This record gives sequence, structure tokens and C-alpha cells, in this order.
Amino acid sequence: MNPFAYDRPTEVGAALQAIAGNDSATGVANQQEIRFIAGGTNILDLMKEGVQRVPHLVDINRLPLDRIEATPEGGLLLGALARNADTAYHPIVEERYPLLAAAILAGASPQLRNMASNGGNLLQRTRCWYFYDVATPCNKREPGSGCSANGGITRQHAILGTSEDCIATHPSDMCVALAALEAVVHVESSRGKRSIPFAEFHRLPGDRPDIDTTLAADELITGIELPDASQFIQHSAYLKIRERLSYAFALVSVAAALDIGADGRIAAARIALGGVAHKPWRKPEAEALLVGALPGEAVFGQVADALLAGALGRGANDFKIPLARNTIVRALTVAAEGTRTNQTILENDGGTQ
Ligand SMILES: Cc1cc2nc3c(=O)[nH]c(=O)nc-3n(C[C@H](O)[C@H](O)[C@H](O)COP(=O)(O)OP(=O)(O)OC[C@H]3O[C@@H](n4cnc5c(N)ncnc54)[C@H](O)[C@@H]3O)c2cc1C
Ligand code: SF4
Repeated sequence: MNPFAYDRPTEVGAALQAIAGNDSATGVANQQEIRFIAGGTNILDLMKEGVQRVPHLVDINRLPLDRIEATPEGGLLLGALARNADTAYHPIVEERYPLLAAAILAGASPQLRNMASNGGNLLQRTRCWYFYDVATPCNKREPGSGCSANGGITRQHAILGTSEDCIATHPSDMCVALAALEAVVHVESSRGKRSIPFAEFHRLPGDRPDIDTTLAADELITGIELPDASQFIQHSAYLKIRERLSYAFALVSVAAALDIGADGRIAAARIALGGVAHKPWRKPEAEALLVGALPGEAVFGQVADALLAGALGRGANDFKIPLARNTIVRALTVAAEGTRTNQTILENDGGTQ
């Protein structure tokens, strides 16, 4: 690992001052910029592998951003430094946001979830193996060098929203649920505060795959706000399909939430996909197909087709298209039956954990 400067501010203002030297226009792209460290479960690996060369680390673990508290509007504010495990097991999250709890618990391992912070989870980088292999060209790591995955091994890669410059996927489970729940990301810099709707937080790769998000390089995530989602408590499911049943990133995952009225018809629906694109994938027009419908395999299949319109495989990941269709239909079927966790869905399907 290269040598780096290190400091540990105790106040948000000091942390913002420390990172104010980054060019705010670069959007977390420059490998040489000052970086925050929270749980360190991603950034330290990237530094040790030489994927990211960070001249100065600002440790934010002493900032007062670890609270989880109800908002006056009936929602919940998750501190950026609250740990993934503390978030998943928080009584309000368990009771009012079972979709989020299930998604977090489907990710990583208990040890990692104890360390990983909510802010860091949003900013974890792709698991494309060429990105980590510094001996191979990668536009995300080294802009303009080429994409080794294009024409290479693509089993884990994206089928939606890709570009010729990058076909990587976003690896987070938590973010898939946050997309479905229409969370808002609160950020702050020495220039002021702003709030970013979750759908606008992560980017598609286009011709700048080195830029993952719309967060500027001098901005700190302070919290993630969940709006009231009580209409979805009874009918939500997170279903994650992976190479083995634990401790692996998603090949495909689906966060599904339904609001089903007393007449049995669907009043509102939210569906987000993981493992298929550079960002959690949502299409409100696909969700609209469910409004007014009775739950059933036929309409769930139509929704899946609408969500996957334009999907493109690259050989080794062709299987993801039918896998995603089946996973969407299954997750919606489970959600319609009643809220369940990823683990209980898989156990009922004959899997073991
Ligand atoms: C072996 C392994 C398996 C894993 N499996 C899964 C999985 O199945 N599913 C899944 O979703 N995840 C998985 N993960 C990823 C894990 O969830 C992330 O590494 C973790 O969430 C990152 O959080 P962190 O606090 O450790 O971030 P860090 O590593 O500290 O930081 C990550 C990035 O975020 C930036 N950052 C952190 N906090 C802030 C902030 N508040 N404001 C601005 N920038 C910030 C840092 O500068 C850095 O660029 C796995 C990780 C490992 C190592
Ligand atoms: S898919 Fe993206 S991350 Fe992977 S090699 Fe290509 S440019 Fe790099």
C-alpha cells in the first residue's frame, strides 16, 4: 500500500474542510483524491490492491452521524455512520422497513455487516474482476484504457443500461431496497447541503464509467432518509440469487413491495433489480402495469418483460435474462403472499443457508 496522510476529525465541519481541496466537479472519479474512510471494508482492499491510490485518508468514524431516528413525517433517518448490522436489526427497520432489513441481511457476512457503514455501502465499488486486476485495462480504474470485460469473461456483468465503455454492475444489496423505498441521500460539503433522490444518486456508465455517482468529490454523505412506507409492510420481499447461498454477490436480486387493498387489487408497486446494471434498476412504467390488477403470474410476467425490455447479454451472462425474469415473478409472488425474508424464501424453495 502507498503511504498516505491520515486524520480523524470529530466534527463534520473539520471533515468537510479536510476534503474541500478535492475538485467538486469530478464526481468521485480521480484516483488521487482525498478520501473518507468509514468501515474500511471496501476502500482498504482497493488501496491494498493498488486499484485506488489515496494520498490522504480522512477517518470519519468519530463524527456524530451514527444515529437512526424516526422523522416527524413518519419516515426514518439512517445516519451515514450507522453500521449495516445495527440498521438491519433496529426495531423500527424490522417493523416498518422489512424489505430493507432483508436486503442488508442478504449481503456480505455478519462480521462485514458489523463494520460496514450505510454511507460506505452506497459508495462501494463494482466487483468486476478486471477492475481489481491492475494488470488489465479498465475504463473505470484507468479512464481511456479500454474495457477488458467487453469480449472477456462476463458471467457477473450487466444486461441493462450498459455502454461500450463499461458493463459492470453495482454490487450492493442494501441499495436495491433503498431504490424501491425511494430513499433520499443527504449530503454536505463546505459549499452547503443538498438532498439527492435515490434514483439520481447512482449513474449509468455512459462514456464516464470512472464516475459511479452524482456525489461530488468534496461531499460527505450525512444520512439516508426513508419516507413512510407503511403501505408496503405486509407485502414485500427481497430475493437474491447468487452462486452459493451465502457470502456471495448477487447474480440477480429483486426488491419487491406491493400495496394490496381490501379488494385484493394492487394499489401501488415498487420493484428494483440488483446485479443487472451499473445502478439499482427501476422502471416506474413497469410498476404502473400492476396498479389495479389482481396479483397473478400472468401480470407479474408482463411486468418482468417491461423491466427487462432492451436487456442484452454478452455470452456468458445471457442466462441472466431468463434468470431475472423468473426472479422478478417469484419475488412478486412471494410479496403478494406476505412479507418474507430472503432466507425463508430460499429455505421454502428447498435451499439451505
Ligand atoms: C468479502 C466481501 C463480501 C461482500 N459481500 C457483499 C454483499 O453480498 N452485498 C453487499 O451489498 N455488499 C457486500 N460487500 C460490500 C460491503 O457491504 C461494503 O464494503 C461496505 O458496505 C462498505 O462500507 P464501509 O463503511 O466499509 O465503506 P468504506 O470502505 O469505508 O468506504 C467505501 C467508500 O465510501 C466512501 N465513504 C464512506 N462513507 C462515506 C460518507 N459518509 N460520505 C462520503 N463518502 C463516504 C469512502 O471514501 C470509500 O470511497 C462485501 C464486502 C466484502 C469485503
Ligand atoms: S466492465 Fe467496467 S469495471 Fe469492468 S473492465 Fe470494463 S470498464 Fe472496467
